[in-house]
Amino acid sequence: MAFRAVLFDIGDTLWHAADAPPPAKFRRLAAERAQAFLASISMPVKDPALVARVAWDSLEGAMREARQTDRREPDYAAIARDALRARGVELSLESAAALMEAIYVSGPEGGKAAYPGARQLLDTLRSRGFKLGIITNRAFGGERFRDDLKAAGLDIGWDANVVSVEVGYLKPHPAIFERALSDLGETGTRTVMVGNSLAEDIAGAQAFGMATAWKRSRPDAEGVTPDFTFDDVSELLEWSVLKGVSVG
Ligand SMILES: [Mg+2]
Repeated sequence: MAFRAVLFDIGDTLWHAADAPPPAKFRRLAAERAQAFLASISMPVKDPALVARVAWDSLEGAMREARQTDRREPDYAAIARDALRARGVELSLESAAALMEAIYVSGPEGGKAAYPGARQLLDTLRSRGFKLGIITNRAFGGERFRDDLKAAGLDIGWDANVVSVEVGYLKPHPAIFERALSDLGETGTRTVMVGNSLAEDIAGAQAFGMATAWKRSRPDAEGVTPDFTFDDVSELLEWSVLKGVSVG
């Protein structure tokens, strides 16, 4: 089989929270930003920490539920707006969306760093002729995510960069894998999936006939068997499937 493309999960596959601040610091930063944002729209509130917490908890709760049910991305801004309204804080949908962006602590500030060898892995796979793509479950996409990739040294000019919140579906929903394959211009059987979740990455990709590599993590599914298992990303370069793109 000739493989031509590799799709990567990001979180705990290519980067991780190497140096994340303690939860109390996250909460303090979020509260400060909520306060600054609400002041900027002339809506001072008594307890900005509570606003930040209610908004953030609503997002996490909605994402958790979506992962357990239909894997459709919730409208996080609408959910935060409604949760805040129940606490007597009235925001427009647009302001609720801006508040969520404001309180989201990400990238280097969130302690995110690439695993050692991740960039070299990507550069080597590209030099071997593979197209490379990202497929990630995230509630924030857009420029913010691209900036975080850059800060982590993972801005390689991806051939596909597919974020669940932009597609409307979370892995392992087929729709997000279809988008990734379409953006790569490849079929499942010519594509390799690399990720740390058996349920979301490995099972989702196997439904499309992809070869799969699992970064060993706490198993989150039973009866899912990847083709290759690794601990250090550099091990992928020794896997026969990724030795090079064959023609034909
Ligand atoms: Mg992951």
